[in-house]
Amino acid sequence: MAGVELENVCRRFGAHAAIENINLTVDEGEFVALVGPSGCGKSTLLRMIAGLDWPDEGHIRIAGREATGVPAAERNVAMVFQNYALYPHLSVRQNIATPLTMRRLKAWERLPLLWHASGASRRRHAQIDTDVHEVAQALGLGHVLDLKPGALSGGQRQRVALGRAIVRRPAAFLYDEPLSNLDAELRTTMRTEIADLHRRIGVASVYVTHDQVEAMTMADRIAVMRAGRILQFASPAQLYAQPSCIEVARTIGTPCIGLLPARVLAGSGGLAVGMHSVLPLHIALAAGADVTVGLRSEHLHLTTTDTAGALPARVTNVEYLGADVLVHVAVAAGHGEARLVVRAASLDCAGRTPVTGELLGVRVDLSRALVFDAQGQRIDAVAGHTMSTQRVAHG
Ligand code: ATP
Repeated sequence: MAGVELENVCRRFGAHAAIENINLTVDEGEFVALVGPSGCGKSTLLRMIAGLDWPDEGHIRIAGREATGVPAAERNVAMVFQNYALYPHLSVRQNIATPLTMRRLKAWERLPLLWHASGASRRRHAQIDTDVHEVAQALGLGHVLDLKPGALSGGQRQRVALGRAIVRRPAAFLYDEPLSNLDAELRTTMRTEIADLHRRIGVASVYVTHDQVEAMTMADRIAVMRAGRILQFASPAQLYAQPSCIEVARTIGTPCIGLLPARVLAGSGGLAVGMHSVLPLHIALAAGADVTVGLRSEHLHLTTTDTAGALPARVTNVEYLGADVLVHVAVAAGHGEARLVVRAASLDCAGRTPVTGELLGVRVDLSRALVFDAQGQRIDAVAGHTMSTQRVAHG
């Protein structure tokens, strides 16, 4: 049984189609991220699963049950927002307990003092207290239960929001950019905490983010979205190695994939890059076709300008990452220049780090390079082994 299922879901705002015929299945216990630029429809999709917005067409099922038309309060989904949405006047204990008090207690039982009068009410209060404690311990909040949200750090507030979501044991978790208000260090910590929590509770989760690194590190599968559609839905490794199109290849992976415009030469089957270089290509392509070769930083190697078969390149920027260095280069391609990023050991290129403005050679490892057709769809991975380019003289 799927945790969350979307079938042919459409949502229009006036003439604008915000979501166009989306089909998506989140398996039970699976963590799925929705990634894409601002306005592509991530939040609209999440809000429809939550019951805060309604599809114009299609069906939404949660834990196997039809949810289309079911009000948010009856869907048994928990939503975690970027602004935490905590009650500032309530303690951490009361914040976490809120979904349980609303669901398990009658109105009079929520009033101070009155609930003491009934044994059944006392038992319900005690059970809520036990459940809140259990969740607070699991999230490392045991020592702040009596504090108000204002006295907590950003990370603790986000944990309280998570606690409030977990305590009701929902059928699905929905996260709307929950980490975007936190600083870089805390984001990394919370990323691990949420992923760890997810593994422990194993509830179907949908996580909206702009940040592909967040999606790559946390999700079992990622739906890459553009303009109300899902371009590709696959595991992080599949998206990285076998993107369906250039837009997916550009979305996934850090640094961004380098793209070389090229033309398939007649006869040799090689790819002409710029005016003077040819990449040997072992793939059936029509002569004269314009393609784009996608090269990730680990497909490229720095060498000297006089190395036979290397693409001539000019260093435009150097980023030190410690053990590695990212060398940004410009190479001649098409009628202009293309930008590539080479990941190198800090001491590369004859034992020293390149500097901006320097002229170098770049050797291309085509064994895992990606080739896209003129419409941007991936044709196939280029077969073969590490190959270098050969210079050709164009008349
Ligand atoms: P962001 O990352 O900026 O939140 P998003 O990918 O979540 O963007 P949505 O907020 O889902 O995108 O919006 C998708 C499209 O639908 C956008 O073009 C947006 O302007 C439009 N839209 C969303 N909600 C409404 C609304 N209530 N009325 C009109 N248009 C809307």
